Amino acid sequence: MANDTKGATGGAVEDDTAAAVDRNALTLEVDAGGTAWLTFDRPDSRANILTSGVMQRLDALLGEVEAGAQAGHIKALVITSAKPGMFIAGANIDEIAGITDPAEGEAGSRRGQAVFSRLDRLQLFTVAAVDGVCLGGGTELILACDYRIATDAPATKIGLPEIQLGIIPGFGGTTRLPRLVGLTAALPLILTGKTVTASKAYRMGLVDERVHPAILRERVRALLAEVAAGRRPQARKRPLLERITGSSLARGFVLSQARKQVLKETKGHYPAPLAALETLTRTESLPLDRALKEEARTLGRLVVTPVSKNLIHVFRLMEAAKKPVTPASPRDVAKVGVVGAGVMGGGIAQLLAYRGYAVRLKDIQSAALGHGLKTARELFDKVVKRGRLHRREAERMMAAISPTLDYSGFGTAELVIEAVVERMEVKKAVLRELEGQVTSGCVLTSNTSALSVTEMQGALERPEDFCGMHFFNPVNRMPLVEIVRGEQTSDEAIATVWAVTRKLDKTPVLVQDGPGFLVNRILAPYMNEAGWLLVDGASVESIDRALVAFGMPMGPMRLLDEVGLDVAHHVSGILHQAFGARMAPAPALEKLPATKRLGRKGGLGFYTYEGSREKAPDASMYAALGLPVTRRDIPREVIQERCILVMINEAARVLEEGIVRGAGDVDLGLITGTGFPPFRGGLMRYADSLGAASVLEKLERYARDLGERFEPAPLVRARAAEGASFYGARPKRPVATVG
Ligand code: NAD
Repeated sequence: MANDTKGATGGAVEDDTAAAVDRNALTLEVDAGGTAWLTFDRPDSRANILTSGVMQRLDALLGEVEAGAQAGHIKALVITSAKPGMFIAGANIDEIAGITDPAEGEAGSRRGQAVFSRLDRLQLFTVAAVDGVCLGGGTELILACDYRIATDAPATKIGLPEIQLGIIPGFGGTTRLPRLVGLTAALPLILTGKTVTASKAYRMGLVDERVHPAILRERVRALLAEVAAGRRPQARKRPLLERITGSSLARGFVLSQARKQVLKETKGHYPAPLAALETLTRTESLPLDRALKEEARTLGRLVVTPVSKNLIHVFRLMEAAKKPVTPASPRDVAKVGVVGAGVMGGGIAQLLAYRGYAVRLKDIQSAALGHGLKTARELFDKVVKRGRLHRREAERMMAAISPTLDYSGFGTAELVIEAVVERMEVKKAVLRELEGQVTSGCVLTSNTSALSVTEMQGALERPEDFCGMHFFNPVNRMPLVEIVRGEQTSDEAIATVWAVTRKLDKTPVLVQDGPGFLVNRILAPYMNEAGWLLVDGASVESIDRALVAFGMPMGPMRLLDEVGLDVAHHVSGILHQAFGARMAPAPALEKLPATKRLGRKGGLGFYTYEGSREKAPDASMYAALGLPVTRRDIPREVIQERCILVMINEAARVLEEGIVRGAGDVDLGLITGTGFPPFRGGLMRYADSLGAASVLEKLERYARDLGERFEPAPLVRARAAEGASFYGARPKRPVATVG
């Protein structure tokens, strides 16, 4: 999908400019041999995108090709891009986001299909020459060509990511892909939006050839010469599996299995994959034209759903997170020191090496160093096993992590990440020591999850070069990094850590220093409310089931087990101290230390575990927490409402205090840091869908019935009184200078 387009434009001058950009986004040249070269190259943009203006221009140029073919002076058509590493990034997301009427969506889809069908029907040989990103409409375009050649450059990724925006490929992709490569091969692309490399695309029959980027044009010319000589390439045979599953009966089975899988993975929260399967079931035996009509109708239905609008919103949040947050330039970083080779340090070291940094990993115990290296090696093994990395490459990266028990080598590091035990005095001592070992341009960071970054700055001579860099556990899987600005942190330090976080392919969210920062602060009342629900008689499984049904990846009781009951108790103590009564631990959770249970890592928590597998809720936990074993039914909606409302209320305080720049950062942080359901668009977007007045009314009711932890935050009252959204709220004290 497109990723650097501008939003809908306002004035006539801007419209003119946009129209000119669209007009110049593709050109047609006919060479002496009668080959028409249609080249995409959107002016002033990294990406080629298929706006409706570009589609109109494409249609007009195809008309010229048609006429040239009829007149006999155009013999073949080549579609290519002049941008290195970029073929076509997809349709214009702003246009998709603006559609509110299914008929409008259907008509837009039909218009796109008509252009590609015109391409499909051309009475000459058509070739797509793909180098780089080829997504969405780009893939649908090449599907309408006779022949596809892709380069094996690492940037070449082919896919149909529409499902990730809550829609289906609607310019013919849903229909044409299975007809080209077979249903079994097409479904993973259509249903998950995952991209494939040129090799994979070749193996599955999505492209006919893969070549080195340096010879792409030569190969196209040679191919055209062969075609001109009457040797048109044979259609490639489909893989055996596709031939076996080609019968209608087998296809029915494949579709029904896929439906089961989708329901298992999405729990029915995402309509688009199910709609894709229904459409394929209805259309598999229809002629192309009728199938395309059905595809367009489904697209029209999906594009107006709240889920699609929410997913587009999340996509935009992710894109916005790629932009720098301060005007300062980042310092160059090539070598990174990591202090503490524990659970986090080992994972962070591996990630750094994986993304090309030289890493110096320090601990005070050689056993810990050995363990940290083992963690890193196991993570590399996983990447190799998944086919994402060659064994040799993994070995080379592993060798980039050099262990040490002293500070040797830290003198050349440009960034250091401290990940020692979570104790202020230890951290301060380590940071003070570190400062004496590194050069003056080196940025120091702490991976603390709950301690004050500003307080740590008190231990440093150069506090401006220090900030928090809060990774989440497990580092390899959790996309979020909270970058914590202490009172004295400079923009340059933030810019440097931001740039490294981006290079690590993580999502950075800039937060102001404050207890629990962003994510843990909002999660704490959520888990605590689950504790109150236990006190009120709900069962562990009913609480977890309710929140999973809401869309959370796991319920709060399981989450407590995952985090570790000791860690959760420790963090809740810190937050209680910082925020007072509203964060007072529920009586049941106060008793956690007395149970001596640690959660998953200790093999026992709210659930029992066998190895690392969860077995069942452990009924003896109720007695251990001083609760009656007999549980009572609390309606699912009440469980959901209580747990989500306390999060919204805390997030309102976070917003008001300027911990983040706005509601978008709350939503991005919670989606990437906790798995808050993307189909809801994020916590504050969900709150806005309820309306501040409704949030206020519910909070007031619960505050009356259950106590002051539900006392509405001042911002909730203010937004309700003004009839305004949380997204419109501006923090009093902005965390960043830009954004
Ligand atoms: P851990 O106990 O697994 O590892 C800490 C390591 O630091 C140990 O190997 C210890 O030997 C080493 N160490 C202690 N003092 C040292 C010193 N002076 N110099 C060098 N090494 C020293 O802890 P962890 O879970 O990896 O947590 C590390 C930090 O990351 C903490 O601040 C924690 O709050 C934070 N964090 C942890 C998680 C998590 O889920 N584990 C998540 C996010 C952040």
